[in-house]
Amino acid sequence: MDHKGTMDVDAHRSRGDQAIEERDPAMLQIWMDGKLVPRSEATVSVYDHGLLYGDGCFEGIRAYGGRILKLKSHLARMYESASLIRLAPAFDVDEIEDAIRQTLDANGLTDAYIRLIFTRGVGTLGLHPFRCPTPGTIIIADKISLYPQELYDEGMDIIVAKRPRIPIPCLDPRIKSLNYLNNILAKIEAIDAGVLEAIMLNTDGMVAECTGDNIFMIKDGRIITPDASTGILHGVTRRFVMNEIAPACGYEVEQAHFPIETLLEADEIFLTGTAAEVIGVTKIDDHRIGDGHVGPVTKACIAEFRRRIAEDCPED
Ligand code: PMP
Repeated sequence: MDHKGTMDVDAHRSRGDQAIEERDPAMLQIWMDGKLVPRSEATVSVYDHGLLYGDGCFEGIRAYGGRILKLKSHLARMYESASLIRLAPAFDVDEIEDAIRQTLDANGLTDAYIRLIFTRGVGTLGLHPFRCPTPGTIIIADKISLYPQELYDEGMDIIVAKRPRIPIPCLDPRIKSLNYLNNILAKIEAIDAGVLEAIMLNTDGMVAECTGDNIFMIKDGRIITPDASTGILHGVTRRFVMNEIAPACGYEVEQAHFPIETLLEADEIFLTGTAAEVIGVTKIDDHRIGDGHVGPVTKACIAEFRRRIAEDCPED
């Protein structure tokens, strides 16, 4: 990947894959259905509906210096996702919180990416979700490689995907489901264009979010992000930025509906996500954003985000 986030497609690996590959696999302990097992024994059945149908939900969570950023919000979203797909988790929220900390400890990790997964569980070959008696529970904790620092300094190039986001009535985007094909197909458009992220519009043509990140724009000193009703994942980092980071920088974030043309005229754009944190965008397709550099508001938000992570890393 070059300094603007353009990449060699063959060399492309997701951030998650990088995380897995960085450690000695034999050493990794995975928490599965109530106990820690070596990675080689952490396998799921071919009859698990998580595999057969993408029937399940997940969270991506980060630990910094031994504290787990916005853990309570991630767990609340996880249990909301489960409830929206009528999956009764095998463990309660306190048990999962303990299990996450146990998994970090077992792997000697204080700075990590944590993947929490509930699968529908083992069933028959038919769709029927309630013929799967026991949901699967998986927690993976591993190191993560961030984007190179240059991308935070100089901004990313991204594209607008042709494929729209699945409309809310078809699949409520509050469900962080194991089926990410809508996003993956948009991600493939990005990869084909030689970049790492793609903006997804909703079926009304309004800007919604990116394939794995929420989006914000700055125009005439105002920070604006697509309204939740555009059909986006309610990002934990989005809310952290709206409620804590932007106000600390002197901004109130507005939520609105706006088309791509408005976004292209923004002074600055940044993305938020658990893996990406806060990162500037300086080019969309062939359009330069603002003056083509990461702007002052984005820089202030990145600095404030990093300060909060280093200082108190709020778990709530
Ligand atoms: N949108 C989508 C589609 C996502 O998958 C994610 C998480 N990777 C986000 C936004 C960002 O959400 P969060 O800040 O909770 O990681």
